[in-house]
Amino acid sequence: MLKSNFAVKRKLLTSQKTLLLFYLVFLQMSYVFAQDMPRVRATIDTLCTPYMGGRGYGRDATDKGERKAAEYLAEKFKKMGLQYFGKDYFQYFKLDVNTHKVVQLKINNKKLVLGQDFILNPISKSGKGNYKIQQLDSNIFDNEEVQKRFLNENISKKVIILNKKEQKKIVDLPIEIVQKIYTAKAILELQDTKLTATIGTKENSNPIFEVKTSAIPKKLKKAKFVVKSDFLKDYQTQNIIGYVRGRVVPDSFLVFSAHYDHLGKMGNIYFPGANDNASGVSMLLELAEFYAKNPPNYSVAFMFFGAEEAGLIGSQYYTENPLFDLKKIKFLTNLDLVGTGDEGATVVNATLFPEEFSILQELDIKGNYLPKITKRGKAANSDHYFFSQKGVKAFFIYTLGGIKAYHDTDDIAKTLPLTRYTQFFALMKDFIKALDKK
Ligand SMILES: [Zn+2]
Repeated sequence: MLKSNFAVKRKLLTSQKTLLLFYLVFLQMSYVFAQDMPRVRATIDTLCTPYMGGRGYGRDATDKGERKAAEYLAEKFKKMGLQYFGKDYFQYFKLDVNTHKVVQLKINNKKLVLGQDFILNPISKSGKGNYKIQQLDSNIFDNEEVQKRFLNENISKKVIILNKKEQKKIVDLPIEIVQKIYTAKAILELQDTKLTATIGTKENSNPIFEVKTSAIPKKLKKAKFVVKSDFLKDYQTQNIIGYVRGRVVPDSFLVFSAHYDHLGKMGNIYFPGANDNASGVSMLLELAEFYAKNPPNYSVAFMFFGAEEAGLIGSQYYTENPLFDLKKIKFLTNLDLVGTGDEGATVVNATLFPEEFSILQELDIKGNYLPKITKRGKAANSDHYFFSQKGVKAFFIYTLGGIKAYHDTDDIAKTLPLTRYTQFFALMKDFIKALDKK
């Protein structure tokens, strides 16, 4: 932005009326879209580097991506001169989390590619070996004789494979059969659609692989695998919280939140999490940059929550240990997955707070920002949830359209379109301006 601004200035010296007009329009644009896209890109790129390791967990310092990201964010707050509530920007909490240093799988001696052909179910424990693959008898679901036979079978040196249909039907089987299936050396769960990774806060007794049906041969013989898990009990991680002091009513807060953690590493791969949620983090930093220079009437707090992907753990911890009275939050806006926007955005909790939703929608139409804003009811799908459960007015907004990558290795910085990023930013500013008057 700065560079092209200078270019316009230089041309202006050669002076023509049209150029002057162009310059004025340009100035106005740079006022409306105050944030700087190269800086946004740099933030997202940094958060998605291998160094940040998918902002996940590990025993060794090099694997503590969540900590590296937290320090990076606290440093940003410090540079902007944001205030903190305690002795610094960090609020610590603990969680149990399962991690995997080594993940390898071969079927009939063909090496499968981690992240593309298969992923590991996050509750998997360590295991290794080369074992025969066994399919379930198709009659097991409705024939008691077959079930009895299976219970007497020795499968402790077998790998059981389950197709999608069997995975669905398995819940109808007697519990002892289900338990028996999971005593196999390993389980291969076939997936016909895309692989979607998650985080495990428990551990199972053996490895469970989620394998793409298209990646395996027709005739299944043997599965060779190595999984080294490391279950981290009472792992310490953190939320990062800062605020800009309001000019008129500093003890009341407008809050922006975004989770900065993601899925971390799995064997030799990591999940960059560009849309989820480097996009939201970068947006909060841009908003913090703006409000640090333009403090509103109310204070504005910026909350980066940890361990969202592990089950909203950081934000739940915050609502149980708030740094100021939750009643002092005028409104909370949670941003998660805001890197697209071609098809608009969706607002979770819109039906709970129709007044704020109509304000947002009107501002969007007036500013011509997003193609549409759709409403949704309550959902426990991001960090707004425990706030609204405690009676705090809160929205969770995510953008629609563009890329399909989600909880996979394709959610990378390079292909994140940021289609309506500047418009979304402007909408957030307008929304806060409207709420700041209330
Ligand atoms: Zn996520």
